[in-house]
Order: sequence, then C-alpha cells, then structure tokens
Amino acid sequence: MNNVNFVGQALKNLFSKPATLNYPFEKREFPEGTRGHVENDMDVCILCGLCQMKCPTGAITVDKKAQTWAIRPFSCIQCRCCVDNCPKKSLSMDKMYQEPGPEKTERVLDLSDKQKEVLAAQAKAAAEKAAAAKAAMEAKKKAEAAAAAGGAGNPS
Ligand code: SF4
Ligand code: SF4
Repeated sequence: MNNVNFVGQALKNLFSKPATLNYPFEKREFPEGTRGHVENDMDVCILCGLCQMKCPTGAITVDKKAQTWAIRPFSCIQCRCCVDNCPKKSLSMDKMYQEPGPEKTERVLDLSDKQKEVLAAQAKAAAEKAAAAKAAMEAKKKAEAAAAAGGAGNPS
C-alpha cells in the first residue's frame, strides 16, 4: 500500500462508524433464527419424553414422576431436533447464547401448577374411561356366560 492509499484509508476510518461495539455497554442484537439455547414453556409441556428420545447428545431428561424437564446446556449442540419434534410446540430456541461457566450444570424446570392440574385431570379421565371399558367388558362376558349356561340347561 503506498502512502497516498494509507492516508486515504486513515481518513476514511476516522470519519466512519467503528466496526466493533463498545461491549459491555453495547450488545449485539442476534439475527432472527439464531440458535442460542433451548427454552421450554412449562405451561404447555406434557412430559411426553419425545424430546429426550430425539436429542442426539442426551442433553434432555424428562422425569414424569417428579414432573420436571431438565437440560444440560453444555451438552446441547443447538441442532433444534427437540424443538422441531415437540408435539406441543412448547420448545423454542432462544436467541441468547448460554453463558459460559466453570462447571457443567443442569437446568431443571418444574411443570407449572396449572399444567400439573391439566395433566392430573387428563390422567383421571383416562383412568375412568379405562375402568368403564373394563366394567363393560366384564358385564358382556358375564352376559355371554349366562346365555351359554341358559342354552346348555334348555336342550331343544
Ligand atoms: S418439551 Fe415437548 S417433546 Fe419434550 S416432553 Fe415436553 S411436550 Fe414432550
Ligand atoms: S437442540 Fe439438539 S442437542 Fe440441544 S437439546 Fe435439543 S435435540 Fe438436544
């Protein structure tokens, strides 16, 4: 680069906006679609476990008994597979990246109280339906047995 070019470049830089940001006072806005970290809406999640099955790195743990959903952020490779396969669309990719840390942590989320009530009501309804179906089946079997017994004691 000759001197004239150098002076021109220096003047240009002097009057143009800096390419860098004044971090931490200014922070960069991540563009739409940035895969930062996985978030779960615990008002919507049904703890079906599909995300755990689909995660290629085993970063997610669903505990139906404890009614929790957990993720190990440092094991996540932001592939989005869990988000795309969640049947309730409760998972999403937040644009912010996971903060670095000295230890591999696990983030455990509890199901919301509202969702616990919804799932309990669904489980109760399913149990009642199953009990009713079982009772109907037993009644049908009894009726068939009675009909067979009646037919055997009444030879034509
Ligand atoms: S986040 Fe979605 S896929 Fe995972 S357990 Fe909840 S509802 Fe199922
Ligand atoms: S984004 Fe990929 S690696 Fe991360 S938790 Fe979801 S499925 Fe697992």
